[in-house]
Amino acid sequence: MTQSSSSIAQNRAEILTRITAAAKSAGRAANAITLIAVSKQQTEARINAMLATGQLVFGENKVQEAYTHWQEHVGRMAGLRLHLIGPLQTNKALDAVKLFDVIETLDRMKLASALAKAMDKTGRQPDIFVQVNTGEEVQKAGISPHDVDAFIADLRKNYDIAPKGLMCIPPAAEEPAMHFALLRKIAQRNGLDQLSMGMSHDFETAIAFGATHVRVGTALFGPRGEG
Ligand SMILES: *Cc1c(COP(=O)(O)O)cnc(C)c1O
Repeated sequence: MTQSSSSIAQNRAEILTRITAAAKSAGRAANAITLIAVSKQQTEARINAMLATGQLVFGENKVQEAYTHWQEHVGRMAGLRLHLIGPLQTNKALDAVKLFDVIETLDRMKLASALAKAMDKTGRQPDIFVQVNTGEEVQKAGISPHDVDAFIADLRKNYDIAPKGLMCIPPAAEEPAMHFALLRKIAQRNGLDQLSMGMSHDFETAIAFGATHVRVGTALFGPRGEG
């Protein structure tokens, strides 16, 4: 697959059309859904082509790579919003707070404490999402659905972190719908109204279950690690 700038613009137009259609069939407003263009492992040329379309919201899963991709754009491009969507080590919390506008992967107290310190130190307040391991997979990041209510209460009470929403990555081999439904239920009972869920292959299902943010990589940019 070649990814010229025109095909990247076309991919994006198609995804936006599909988002609008999925919102419509769910009886939702299309502008309630934010498309996060996941630029991890994509070339500078493809990222520049995506920026040329007017796309301003991007997702990265590694702090260091995010600096490589975005350092020169930050501060020069009004409206640019960067989401961290991959696991965060506590020793990178400061760098993450300095760069990202949204950190979607808070899942443990030690990290909450490191983020709170980093926010204090920098005066920056990125939006925080809690990652929930809806499939309770041992190898996957995220807090267990059984522990998440207490975790959110603890964040609010002891860390002065008011999470804005929840994020999940359903198990690859399972029907995603039940995971999206579970994430929505956890959000509702905790008074949270933002849901980051849905990727290239399942974002329409996620929208049917209330996603406010969909994280789309390959369907926008083409396969990763090429070009
Ligand atoms: C890579 C990644 C995506 C994008 O996946 P695609 O299948 O390429 O759309 C979404 N969310 C997370 C957390 C990711 O790491």
